Amino acid sequence: MNVPARSCSLCSGPDAFFSGPVKSHGGEYVVLYCDKCRVGETFPDPDDALLHELHSTEYYRNGEGARFIRPVEWIIEGMRRWRIHRLSKIVTQGRALDVGCGSGRFLRGLRSSGWNVAGLELNDETAAAARKAHGLAVETSLDVFDDGSFDLITITHVLEHLRNPRQVLKRCAGLLRGGGIMAVAVPNIDSWQARLSREDWFHLDLPRHLWHFSEKWLLRELTALGFTIIKVRRLDFAHNIFGWMQSLLNVMGYHHNRLYNFLSSDDFDRGDEPRAVSLILSVALAPLLLPLSVVLTMLEAALHSGGTVEIIARADSEVCPEQSLNDMA
Ligand SMILES: [Zn+2]
Repeated sequence: MNVPARSCSLCSGPDAFFSGPVKSHGGEYVVLYCDKCRVGETFPDPDDALLHELHSTEYYRNGEGARFIRPVEWIIEGMRRWRIHRLSKIVTQGRALDVGCGSGRFLRGLRSSGWNVAGLELNDETAAAARKAHGLAVETSLDVFDDGSFDLITITHVLEHLRNPRQVLKRCAGLLRGGGIMAVAVPNIDSWQARLSREDWFHLDLPRHLWHFSEKWLLRELTALGFTIIKVRRLDFAHNIFGWMQSLLNVMGYHHNRLYNFLSSDDFDRGDEPRAVSLILSVALAPLLLPLSVVLTMLEAALHSGGTVEIIARADSEVCPEQSLNDMA
């Protein structure tokens, strides 16, 4: 695949090749990396129709909102509750917005803990399903919300899917009241697992992920928007341990993301999937790779290179996004 010399879309600095090519959904993609921003970018840009299709029910979650087989969904529900518990220790209950709320299950959990909740979901079909399933107020644009009207905004593994991540962060900063909390989680392209497995990295997810952020980028961006960083969480056991396991299996040459696809809901269209051999070997090797993945997850987190990172930040005063974005240019 021919990759032309390109400039970074965020800072216009030179982009360098990071990984690829990866064949996916009829296209071929690479990741380019800007050393100045410490951000990766998917090239070429998938068109809007493909992106919409890749986030539709057929590919992303079934009609009930589930993305995985039942035991995995139970683990994910446990993680959601743990996350709500952690957030409740940082910010007192009030009004919360989940950006990219998907099935609405996290918002449903927040609501049962006493929060007044709202969601943003760009996919119309998914937004409608979340409203219908849980009676949630789910909007498809941030423009309908009032400035300074939220105490908590969560953006969990969503920014990398958006064409305009900086504008969304800036708008969300404006939606928080002074003292409000923003919790943003992304896969970390500067992590050990990303650097070691390159195009085989599980969290690359091309071409759904248009951006590949790093802890440094997210810290700088939130600080420039006027936030005070109150916690950087690099030890997300589910995302990071599974990230290692699946990436190692991919590096070993088994059919790409075979274990993940096995754990995903049966309702998805996975395309042509060689079933037996890769599946048997992936499932057989998984318990052997688990202890190694746990150790690697803890080591990379301890050395500030977690496979995913969540930053919790406080809007201490009136945020002045225009000024901040100009400063970063
Ligand atoms: Zn850049």
